[in-house]
Amino acid sequence: MAEIMPGVHVVDGVGMPGRPGTVNVCLLVDKDECTLIDAGFPGVGQLLSAALASLGMPPTSVRRIIVTHHHFDHTGGLAEAVRLTGAEVWAHTADAGFIDGSVPRAVPAWVREGTGAPAATPSAMKPERVAVTLRLVGGEELGVLGGIRILHTPGHTPGHLSLLLPSLSLLIAGDALRYGDGKVTGAPEHYNADTAQANETVRSLIALDFEHMLPYHGDYLSAEASTKARADLAATP
Ligand SMILES: [Zn+2]
Ligand SMILES: [Zn+2]
Repeated sequence: MAEIMPGVHVVDGVGMPGRPGTVNVCLLVDKDECTLIDAGFPGVGQLLSAALASLGMPPTSVRRIIVTHHHFDHTGGLAEAVRLTGAEVWAHTADAGFIDGSVPRAVPAWVREGTGAPAATPSAMKPERVAVTLRLVGGEELGVLGGIRILHTPGHTPGHLSLLLPSLSLLIAGDALRYGDGKVTGAPEHYNADTAQANETVRSLIALDFEHMLPYHGDYLSAEASTKARADLAATP
């Protein structure tokens, strides 16, 4: 498992079914407790078990799972991860209903129009319902790894969250930003619930200062991340 920064580990092998590459499910380890950021796909339990074992941490050391948003590629393995760890589930209040099943997920445009990934089939998009333990609104601070600031970064979904760790100068961007082929971008428009709001979020994120960025999709950007993001996204409407 890759430790990209002290205490920040990316769980090995969490891949999109039917697609090449992996997504960045992230395990934050602070002394004897862990915080998992997003939960990948069904099957993540085994990968998470292996990751925890390699750190010498028991599954019960995972105290909370912070879900950046309700999309199936972030919540498909959530029920399994909760069963394994007994962790609390934290999500923004605007996405919580999709996660606990009290609000039905709409069939997104990329499925209706066939513009999305081959794996994004309706059956793959119905993760097991999971109770949300703590509903967030953004602005909360969590005392892990020197402090985690929870940012409400809507647009991709109404309740999308990103996490800023000022003491590490790290932004965990979720799907609000990506990095690949040497370029920082926003999420592809057809995956966003509200493009204007997603652009507003991009502008607010690139106004922050952070040296490092871990997006869920794409590569870890290890240096001068916000400077690069500002340059690459200067034309955001
Ligand atoms: Zn998403
Ligand atoms: Zn995603």
